[in-house]
Amino acid sequence: MKIMALKLAIKLVQLLATVLAADFAGGFIHWLEDAYVREDTPLIGKFIGRPNTVHHHFPRYMTRFNWWYTSRDLFIVASLLLVLAWCLGLLTWQVWLFAILAANANEFHKWEHRTRKENGRIISFLQDVKILQTARHHARHHTDPKNSHYCTTTNLVNPILDGIRFWDGLEWLLARTTGLKRREDTSVRGHGPGPAWLEEYRRGPV
Ligand SMILES: [Zn+2]
Ligand SMILES: [Zn+2]
Repeated sequence: MKIMALKLAIKLVQLLATVLAADFAGGFIHWLEDAYVREDTPLIGKFIGRPNTVHHHFPRYMTRFNWWYTSRDLFIVASLLLVLAWCLGLLTWQVWLFAILAANANEFHKWEHRTRKENGRIISFLQDVKILQTARHHARHHTDPKNSHYCTTTNLVNPILDGIRFWDGLEWLLARTTGLKRREDTSVRGHGPGPAWLEEYRRGPV
C-alpha cells in the first residue's frame, strides 16, 4: 500500500513538473518574441513580430482567430520536438503532455482575453479553480512596462520567474555577450504611437 502511494506521489510530481516545464517553455518563446522579434525581422517578422505588436496594442484582437492561426508556430515547434523524441526513443507520456500543453500555450492565452461567455462553462471553471491561468493574472503582462508574466498556462510559474527577475537577467546577459538589445514596445505609455499600419487593426473587437 505504501509503495502504491509512493508511486502515485511520484507520478503526481512528474505531472506537475511537466505542466510547469511546458508553461515555462511557452513563456520563453513569448519572451523571445516580445523582446527581440520585430516586424522587419527576416523570415518570422511578418508572422510573429507583427501579430505580437498588434496584440500589445489591441489585446482583444486575437480573440477573433481560430486555433490554427493562434497556435501554428508553437504547434510546429512541439511537433518537431515529438519527432525528435520519437527518433531518440524518448517518446514518454511526459513528452506528449509537454508538447500538447506547450503547443496550446497561446490558445490558453487567447482564453485569458475572452469573456466568460465566450469561454463557456468548462474553460471558465478551469480558470476559476486556477488549473488554467486566470485573466486577472495575465492582465499583469499587459500592464506597463509589459516586461513580465510571459507564461500563459498557469498562475504558478510567473511569480517565481519575475520574483528572481529571470527575464531581466537573460536580457542583461544577451546584451553583455552579444550586444542584442530588447526592442522598443510602442504600446507602452510614452513609447508610441506605434507603426502606421496598426490603423487597420483599430477596427475589430478591441
Ligand atoms: Zn506579450
Ligand atoms: Zn495577452
